[in-house]
Amino acid sequence: MHEPSVPHLHAEDPELAGLVEDEARRQYEKLRLIASENYVSPAVLEAAGTVLTNKYSEGYAGRRYYEGQQFVDPIETLAADRAKELFGVEHANVQPYSGSPANLAVYMAFLEPGDPVMGLSLPMGGHLTHGWSVSATGKWFRPVRYEVRADTGRVDLDQVRDLALKERPKLIWCGGTAIPRTIDFPAFAEIAREAGAVLAADIAHIAGLIAGGAHPSPVGHADVITTTTHKTLRGPRGAMIMSTAEHAKAVDKAVFPGLQGGPHNHTTAAIAVALKEASQPGFAVYARQVVANAKALAAALLDRGYDLTSGGTDNHLILIDLTNKGIGGKPAAQALDRAGIELNYNAVPFDPRKPFDPSGLRVGTAAITTRGLGEERMPQVAAWMDEVVQAASKQDESVVERVAGQIRELLASYPMPGWTSAP
Ligand SMILES: *Cc1c(COP(=O)(O)O)cnc(C)c1O
Repeated sequence: MHEPSVPHLHAEDPELAGLVEDEARRQYEKLRLIASENYVSPAVLEAAGTVLTNKYSEGYAGRRYYEGQQFVDPIETLAADRAKELFGVEHANVQPYSGSPANLAVYMAFLEPGDPVMGLSLPMGGHLTHGWSVSATGKWFRPVRYEVRADTGRVDLDQVRDLALKERPKLIWCGGTAIPRTIDFPAFAEIAREAGAVLAADIAHIAGLIAGGAHPSPVGHADVITTTTHKTLRGPRGAMIMSTAEHAKAVDKAVFPGLQGGPHNHTTAAIAVALKEASQPGFAVYARQVVANAKALAAALLDRGYDLTSGGTDNHLILIDLTNKGIGGKPAAQALDRAGIELNYNAVPFDPRKPFDPSGLRVGTAAITTRGLGEERMPQVAAWMDEVVQAASKQDESVVERVAGQIRELLASYPMPGWTSAP
């Protein structure tokens, strides 16, 4: 059952409590390979469930609009100081509600409506908020999109430079949601300097790897850094914006009063806890293991004839192109989910299929590494994936059921933070 236990919830709202318990069990029994997800610690869960949710705190520490901030101020200061220390930045704003509002705040801080903004195209691995057409950022600003190279599957830095010098974006984003390779922050910084653009590094996916020393840091290269706190960083759902001292004021003003009202203090507290956890030596071990697991899983998938964008991975993420397997990403993802392997269908670069039924699968190792799985388990994970993908093209449900049982059995020996099997 859920840990910490939720007895008051069971008493007051059994219907809702039942759903929470079901979700906890689901997370316990499944091999969770969604690249943006993780398991937070019970300490983070506890911090997120405190009476801090009762308090309004518009403004910043020492400059609030309501009284009673004697304890919220030091909590927010603690979170910001820990972020500064962990990432080695001059300024950190821990108030953004999530990654998308954090990115919107960057536009608010540096651009006027209609200004040009450059980002990695969504179907190539970019994020909606980097100027994609259906996003406010693509409607209210003028998007310029760079891509990855067809031959390497990696960002085409020559194209980035050419486009930047031609289109003169005011803001350049690097980072994204489906990038299996290291981001070359110094190269982006040089291009931004040449083009006279602000460089924003969106490290939502890789923040935990950066904190743990398993991916190079954008600090010293990017003017501003945004991140969610709930992906590899293993904190609550939330976000941060980090910057040089020079941009601190613009960033803070953009978040509040530019875009948001009161910060979510319970989330701020949970972020502070997660940042403390991420500064421990054990977290660096975790971050390296996430990457080692992804590399081992990629190698095992390649052995089984799977085609991976860019041919492999440098981080926590693998993008599989299923074209040569004769099945679309969506039916494969659905069969895998039924078999206890949770991941998402995803476009691959130059995908000929539609976004709702693309050719690929996106896989990440952050959550299973938190569970304690190591490289030695990855060939088995790849074998199960392969079996289910093959069974799915033959509509063979017996394989799906057998694999789900085998996965439940395996995971019973890997404890889950947030779950206890004891009654
Ligand atoms: C997840 C993600 C976001 C958005 O985060 P939300 O909290 O879902 O709004 C932004 N940018 C990148 C690169 C992401 O991966």
